[in-house]
Amino acid sequence: MDPIFSPRPLPLLPVIGRDGGYPVARIFCVGRNYAAHAAEMGNEVDREEPFWFTKSCFAMIPSGSALPYPPGTRDLHHEVELVVALGEDGEPIALGCGLDMTRRDLQARAKEGRKPWDTSKDFEGSAVIGALTPGADTSGRTIRLLVNGAVRQEAPLSDMVRDLPDLLDHLRGLYRLGSGDLIMTGTPAGVAAVGPGDELVGEIDGLAPVHLSIGDPA
Ligand code: MN
Repeated sequence: MDPIFSPRPLPLLPVIGRDGGYPVARIFCVGRNYAAHAAEMGNEVDREEPFWFTKSCFAMIPSGSALPYPPGTRDLHHEVELVVALGEDGEPIALGCGLDMTRRDLQARAKEGRKPWDTSKDFEGSAVIGALTPGADTSGRTIRLLVNGAVRQEAPLSDMVRDLPDLLDHLRGLYRLGSGDLIMTGTPAGVAAVGPGDELVGEIDGLAPVHLSIGDPA
């Protein structure tokens, strides 16, 4: 059967040292993986098991993008996160730095109404991800986010409640993981609102940074 229109190609992420890009298929995101962030949101970390939400790969935009201030919100927040890219056998093959942009007001309403998070988490431009660096060693690295040059979020990756092997173990119990699957591993404390004119830079030691400019509403 032929498609009735041209299918959207999977978005590609640059890979340091490679000519080709990493085709992104699925984006899995974990919630409350830093105790201090869970606390600032008024939650406790569920030590029993992590919880997950997803973003469409088409929500992804590359580092260096200008994101028009998204519709439907008055409270757009940044969340800087370690991103892990999986290979064909579902094992991590590369790391990156990403932004889980969040319509916090919609998320708060969803939580109140015990409704799903999709509209707060999965919208165009909500996953901003920098170039991937081959390798999977997260040890000894610090993650931080700067807004207009000022540090807003900063923590060692070792502050994660569940480390990468733990997260993968749990996710493998729910999905058959493989190439094209990304994991966003949660954000440290310090999330806050951003607006038109703000310049965001996410950094993780030894990895390519992620840059985002917030523009006026489209
Ligand atoms: Mn997040």
